Amino acid sequence: MSIIRAKEILKHQFGYDSFRMNQQQAIETVLQKKDCVVLMPTGGGKSLCFQIPALIVEGLTVVISPLISLMKDQVDALKSNGVQAAFLNSTQSASQQSEIFDAIAKGKLKLLYVAPERLLKSGDQFITYLKTLNVSLFAIDEAHCISSWGHDFRPEYMQLAKLKVHFPKVPVIALTATADKLVRKDIMEKLELHHPTLFVSSFNRPNIFYSVEPKRNSYEQLLAYLTKHKNESGVIYCLSRSSVENLAEDLKQDGYNALPYHAGLEKNVRDKHQELFLKDEVKIIVATIAFGMGIDKSNVRFVVHMDLPKNVESYYQETGRAGRDGLQSEALLFFSWGDVVKMKKFAEVEKNERQTKIMLKKLNQMGEFGDLKTCRRKFLLNYFSEETKEICGSCDNCNTKYERFDGTILAQKVLSAVKRLDQRWGTTYVVDFLRGSKSEKIREEHKQLKTYGVGADISKDNWFDYIKDLMAQGYLKQTDGEYPLLALTAKSEPVLKGLEKVDLIKVKIKTERKRSLVSESEHEYFKDLLEDLKRVRTVVAKNENVPAYVIFADTTLVELATYLPQTEEEMRKISGVGDLKLEKYGKVFLAEIKKYCTEKNLKSRMELKTPKRERKSNNRPKRVANADGTYSISLTMFKEGKTIAAIAEARGLATSTIETHLIRFIESSEIKIEDLVPSHKIEPIRKAILQLNPGFATAPVKEFLGEDYSYGEIRAVMVRMYK
Ligand code: ADP
Ligand code: ZN
Repeated sequence: MSIIRAKEILKHQFGYDSFRMNQQQAIETVLQKKDCVVLMPTGGGKSLCFQIPALIVEGLTVVISPLISLMKDQVDALKSNGVQAAFLNSTQSASQQSEIFDAIAKGKLKLLYVAPERLLKSGDQFITYLKTLNVSLFAIDEAHCISSWGHDFRPEYMQLAKLKVHFPKVPVIALTATADKLVRKDIMEKLELHHPTLFVSSFNRPNIFYSVEPKRNSYEQLLAYLTKHKNESGVIYCLSRSSVENLAEDLKQDGYNALPYHAGLEKNVRDKHQELFLKDEVKIIVATIAFGMGIDKSNVRFVVHMDLPKNVESYYQETGRAGRDGLQSEALLFFSWGDVVKMKKFAEVEKNERQTKIMLKKLNQMGEFGDLKTCRRKFLLNYFSEETKEICGSCDNCNTKYERFDGTILAQKVLSAVKRLDQRWGTTYVVDFLRGSKSEKIREEHKQLKTYGVGADISKDNWFDYIKDLMAQGYLKQTDGEYPLLALTAKSEPVLKGLEKVDLIKVKIKTERKRSLVSESEHEYFKDLLEDLKRVRTVVAKNENVPAYVIFADTTLVELATYLPQTEEEMRKISGVGDLKLEKYGKVFLAEIKKYCTEKNLKSRMELKTPKRERKSNNRPKRVANADGTYSISLTMFKEGKTIAAIAEARGLATSTIETHLIRFIESSEIKIEDLVPSHKIEPIRKAILQLNPGFATAPVKEFLGEDYSYGEIRAVMVRMYK
């Protein structure tokens, strides 16, 4: 019953057709007055998990949120959807605050956002006040802040344990985007939740392309990158305030529309810069990590890290600010091991050895990510305790082939250096030694050794790469501990004796990118109309003094420019158009679309929104590249009219193998999707994929759809959608 109401609110107030993974379940749990913990990646849609229940049940929902900017944004966005919400914080005047208390007293507010310190201010005064009200739900955002195992521990969060003591009957929903298993446990325990249900969504962000470049001359590298991303919105993160200012200045000199943001700037300057960025009047923001918490700008197309983030959680969170609208976006990191060393001093947590150790370990894992030669998405997902077998095809490593050369001599130089240094030194020392460094750091007696300086002709970076490669291949190893030392392995000796050859990686060759699943419409949109609509949005946003995305997200504009709705009724079917927004903005946007259609002699294309089953593919048939014989045999048999089961039987292969063969020909349009998947199943699968956003994983979709659908059918529809 109430879930029907929840769906109505989803459409009516927020303009969305269906829930995303776990949203519905979390809402149901809260409505049953049970506690729960929701883990969803940034942009996954955590807010609706408490905002919708807040609107269904009587009384007030109190949202605890750590940052003031975050609150203001959420409250603005809620108000734009016609939801009565407010926040309380220290920036408000006494009269502003009493206005809010007034509204609460009159039962006019549904959601109240407060900072944890406010909640627990002056003893239990605020709690006592809340007790006089009808509080229906507590939502604790960024709940990982409660855990000292986490990367963002905030002592004031510890106090939130009191909530369950004071309000044992009021359900608590705790939400976070980053929490490993220890942190999850901590959240449940520290908040004293009652048998909480845990909801974990996939952390995959399939529309983000991850890449890392070795940090050499990072400014030049950045410029090269930016020329390929003209007119796109992006965030560039730097470690220090001074580097933020310098970089923003340099970019301006080079003709880029960039502004700095860091906590050392005057508040009004900072706010101004943020606002200009949100309103798309400035394309690039150069910032310290102070920027971003709670920035819900949906069309950030790239996030660049000039310096190494202090842990994978931060990296994931910061890169997660790209592509919240589901469109293709990029994350680029400039990496050097020097940065890992430099960051060590920031890992120090005063008077807390245990915490320091955790931070150092996390820093090293970040280093590992920077140096990774395998799929970056897989690394990230595994880091967040998510299993994944498939390689993503949408990160630099999945798109790189490594060329190798005979590196036996180089390997011998390294191995004998390690041996002569008695296996008691780390990589940096060994490299300096090989390159014949004159530094005092190199011991005098080492300077007398034969191998000293035999590698002077090779750069430091290259030596580091070769040593990594040798370790990866097992010719060298590193000891554990805070200062890892290089040591030989059983495989070293044959190389030293000249009995075994070693191949080393030479240069990276980029291969063509595979397209990843993006929630872009599968139909073409009218690009110039999209530009017109963006202009309308800018004007409306300026009038209302809110960021552009609060009016409509980019994805909504793309849909408008695709389907060309002509009436309010049609426009209501567009994702992101709720009743209130329709009423407020429907006319201006419709007018713009109609004007365009008249000029170009176009009609509504709303019928495309429900795909016809027999729709022909526009793509000309492409042949399957390198399809080896076995695929073609399956195809031929299939075209002769044999069923998949019959082909499997005849060829002595599994049916799933035959499915895999045939799916390849969907990509090349030699087989139609309808030939493989019963037509009534196509649409439900497509919808499930759009809703779950599972990336390349079929398992979640299968779980969602149940017995009647096979992996092969799901895979086939996926391939069709990615194509
Ligand atoms: P989070 O807090 O998890 O980072 P948000 O709650 O801010 O994410 O949601 C991210 C974006 O996704 C917002 O623009 C939100 O309106 C949108 N969104 C949330 N749920 C849905 C849904 N079911 N369908 C479509 N869009 C959604
Ligand atoms: Zn990958």
